[in-house]
Amino acid sequence: YDDRDGKIWMDGALVDWRAANVHVLTHALHYASSVFEGERCYGGKIFKGHEHSLRLIESGRLLDMPVPYSAEELDRAKAEVVEANGLQDAYIRALAWRASGPDMGVSAARNHVRVAIAAWEWGSYYGDAKWQGAKLDISRWKRPDPETIPAAAKASGLYMICTMSKHAAEAKGCSDALFYDWEGYVAEATGANIFFVKDGEIHTPLADRFLNGITRQTVIRIARDMGLNVHERRISPEELSEFSECWLTGSAAEVTPVGQIGEHKYKVGQITREIAEAYDALVRA
Ligand code: PMP
Repeated sequence: YDDRDGKIWMDGALVDWRAANVHVLTHALHYASSVFEGERCYGGKIFKGHEHSLRLIESGRLLDMPVPYSAEELDRAKAEVVEANGLQDAYIRALAWRASGPDMGVSAARNHVRVAIAAWEWGSYYGDAKWQGAKLDISRWKRPDPETIPAAAKASGLYMICTMSKHAAEAKGCSDALFYDWEGYVAEATGANIFFVKDGEIHTPLADRFLNGITRQTVIRIARDMGLNVHERRISPEELSEFSECWLTGSAAEVTPVGQIGEHKYKVGQITREIAEAYDALVRA
């Protein structure tokens, strides 16, 4: 991704794409002192951009790493990046990280926090097969206890096991992996939240131990506005065989139907379709 034309916003100014570099002694590279956002724009307009800016700042706060820009400044910077790259339908990636500086060790409070924002065209997260229903592997790793790591932050360190789990899933011909949490309940995928349908009602894991996605919250609102019951609760793996439909939500994943988790099969059903259509209409409204 580094060898492209275009502009990236870095610490307050647009720089050439190929010049948006950091030093190898960057604290974040060694100690995972970084937080990020993934969001999409539709027709040049960023969906829930302000919420994402606020979450970046909150993630930084949770990691004791104050982001040196206001949400309004981040909003403007993202709009500038979209505009400078002439984008309409695109993915936007903001990153805040602790830089190289006077300290090179675990403690680095004197090292500045830097921010970069890039954007590029990006189609469906799971490719053309989206409507066939994604196949999920079950990860051998567990989402960690919030007493172990700040689980509500969108922090890079939380993604180490996501990459490992997704690679393992892809090696088995799956498109993603489902995590259980440290207590053994169903949690989320490697970059998306999960929903299920049983008897015409929606069930989704309670988001008190992993990222409470902005798309998850949007989809819960959409479903309730459609008059559907949504239950946010603990879901045990034994229940995976009882659901009829399943889908993932995320800024990148949008609403993606799931066709299979391990040995359990799901249909791409009516509720999944209605929710996906309502979400697509909302992001372009
Ligand atoms: N969980 C994880 C681990 C994620 O990476 C994402 C994507 N940001 C989500 C859930 C969904 O979050 P959102 O809907 O805010 O994109």
